[in-house]
Amino acid sequence: LYNKFSGVSKPRYVRINTLKMGVDSAILELSKQYEVLKDDLVPGLFKLPPGTDLHKHPLVVNGSIFMQGRASSMVAAALDPNPGWWVLDACSAPGNKTVHLAALMKGKGKIIACELNEERANRLAHTVKLAGATNVEVKHGDFLNLNPEDPSYLKIRAILLDPSCSGSGTTIDRLDHLLPSYTADMEDNANSDRLRKLAAFQKKALEHAFSFPAVERIVYSTCSIHQIENEDVVKSVLPLAASSGFQLATAYPQWSRRGLPVVDGWEHLLRTDVDEDGEGFFIALFVRKVDYNSGSS
Ligand code: SAM
Repeated sequence: LYNKFSGVSKPRYVRINTLKMGVDSAILELSKQYEVLKDDLVPGLFKLPPGTDLHKHPLVVNGSIFMQGRASSMVAAALDPNPGWWVLDACSAPGNKTVHLAALMKGKGKIIACELNEERANRLAHTVKLAGATNVEVKHGDFLNLNPEDPSYLKIRAILLDPSCSGSGTTIDRLDHLLPSYTADMEDNANSDRLRKLAAFQKKALEHAFSFPAVERIVYSTCSIHQIENEDVVKSVLPLAASSGFQLATAYPQWSRRGLPVVDGWEHLLRTDVDEDGEGFFIALFVRKVDYNSGSS
């Protein structure tokens, strides 16, 4: 249990930043010191032995590789933007998924990376610079205040929405329930108000994402294990999603852990499990069928 708390037993993952370095040369370099295994799900992601500390590794320091968990790395890859698209990262800092998007887009097209908190926006700008992601524009502001009809956003084809969440899938808090003194009521009282507020924001933000006129793909993700921030948010936006032409699609069909069966289309949703996967993440992918014959696209 101590190992699980401290994360010592968890394998480490690195994502090769292909904007700066080829996968083969990065692996050649890392293999000099570590046993490196290719991940079968996310391109450019590699597994290293538990306890590997790469914080000071030259390739990390110069932005050629990013230490990024497997579940977190699945998010941008699920959005799968085409190189050349315009993409909006709605809640971006510190920017790990932003620069992953930039790498997937081979530095082409444009990413607008929005962040509400000024200090965190500065951190985001630092990540973007470190990664050499020259197609990213950092926008310090509130995603909810972006006007979808503004000419800057008319070309947005994909949105990554990874909003503030409880973090219950990645923090030690989630293990409160293992304490002998724990009672379910304690958690309910402590968390329910906060979770309700987070869920209200998450719903609003997802609804806002549907209103961008040219958007075809939206990924909603959290690092929360709570139904209220995950399936319930999806459930609450389904009518608007449908009337805006969106439907749920299956991210990583080969992945066996899907959503909780409390919403229509739960089998499209994806969960990672704290015990099995080391982190509890949630991913929902919405796609809109675009009629290329209508002349509007
Ligand atoms: N996607 C990021 C990454 O992978 O590095 C992590 C994003 S973090 C879960 C959520 C971020 O959303 C926080 O930095 C928070 O300050 C920001 N945020 C919260 N409300 C926002 C809003 N209304 N508009 C824009 N950003 C917001």
